[in-house]
Amino acid sequence: MIRALSLTISTLALGMVSTNAIAQDQIIRVGNLLTDAASAPSGPATIIVRDGKIADIRRGSEPVDDPGATIIDLSTKTVMPGLIDLHVHLTGDPGGDFWKETTEPAEWGVVVGAKNALVTAKAGFTTVREAGSSQYSAFSLRRGTAEGIIPGPRIIAAGPALAIVGGHGDVSGFTEDVNDLLTSGYSCTGAVECAAKVRKASRAGSDIIKITATGGVLSQQGRGLDAQFTSEEMQSIADTAHSLGLKVMAHAHGARGIEAAARAGIDTIEHGTFADEAALKVMKANGTAMVPTLMAFKGVSERLGKGIYTPVVEEKIRMTMGKVGKAVSMAKQMGVPVAFGTDAGVFNHGRNAEELQLMVDAGLTPREAVASATTVAAKMLDMDNEIGRIAVGYSADLIALDGNPLDDVRKLEDVDWVMVRGRVID
Ligand SMILES: [Zn+2]
Repeated sequence: MIRALSLTISTLALGMVSTNAIAQDQIIRVGNLLTDAASAPSGPATIIVRDGKIADIRRGSEPVDDPGATIIDLSTKTVMPGLIDLHVHLTGDPGGDFWKETTEPAEWGVVVGAKNALVTAKAGFTTVREAGSSQYSAFSLRRGTAEGIIPGPRIIAAGPALAIVGGHGDVSGFTEDVNDLLTSGYSCTGAVECAAKVRKASRAGSDIIKITATGGVLSQQGRGLDAQFTSEEMQSIADTAHSLGLKVMAHAHGARGIEAAARAGIDTIEHGTFADEAALKVMKANGTAMVPTLMAFKGVSERLGKGIYTPVVEEKIRMTMGKVGKAVSMAKQMGVPVAFGTDAGVFNHGRNAEELQLMVDAGLTPREAVASATTVAAKMLDMDNEIGRIAVGYSADLIALDGNPLDDVRKLEDVDWVMVRGRVID
């Protein structure tokens, strides 16, 4: 009896080992292969995916001899690398009721985020940078998609954003007693305290440090859109983050706040709305990239004047009108890298790819727009040896669609099939 039992267990164990060791290949028949934004579509090909990675790429439509492999037929489609959005807020949906901060626990963000992770992946985005979430909810979400428990993109997560006391990103709009109760614990004053908050975020699990360098549109703080952190504080944040191997992304609208953030060595400027020549010169000199989030402005303008936003917010939205997109064309002219990010969550998740046409309207070529959401974004994440192109050894992050997005970026608003890390999203 005991022998029989041990035999059963060892057979079972052996069975488990063998199924794990010989993972089934996936063979993808591709109609038209676009390996990266710098190339042209090159016709039929076969991609072999093994253990979540691209194991082989064979040109032409010759059948591959691999019995037991799963065949994925995309022979009528263009297949290209999955898109990357450097600025999303998966744990939130658009809405103007700021008081919900008092009624919704941070854990609710994981539920909302699971829904939005699927919507985002289905829209063709296989990697996103979470640019600030309700406390630590984005970290759970990150693990959920990494382990394949919930379908969604790879998530690079900032977690809670650093802000000045009462600034954009801190709690505002309530009585002081309530503001004090609701604080995330990540506001800071002075170089020493700001360095400590960077280290705390790192300990909590941040992949990147998010700060609000200037005022912001959708918070209840009524101090405009200019610089909030001092240069000394931003220098401390950038140096501390870099010493831990972390990059810093700075929300910034006002020109002098952008300039000071770039001078401090912050890696990307998010929004960059009022960037002028002086600010862009410092960005260029420091290798700072701009992540324009043009969809955020489209999203808020669609909701303006409908009683959704409070008067303090409506006034700040109107300040940005007529300015949106101008900094992007100036950045391009001055050689400042422009990387793709949308601020999804300010508008409905899943519309992310609409940003591409807005970038083209602002002066980028379709090829530059597609590069901003693939190779350029991958470089911003220091992941350009892993994602952003289709190559052997890269993660199997693939999308399929009709037509050629290098002719018309709006083709990317209708993605038919998505694979993240070798997992088909459906
Ligand atoms: Zn944002």
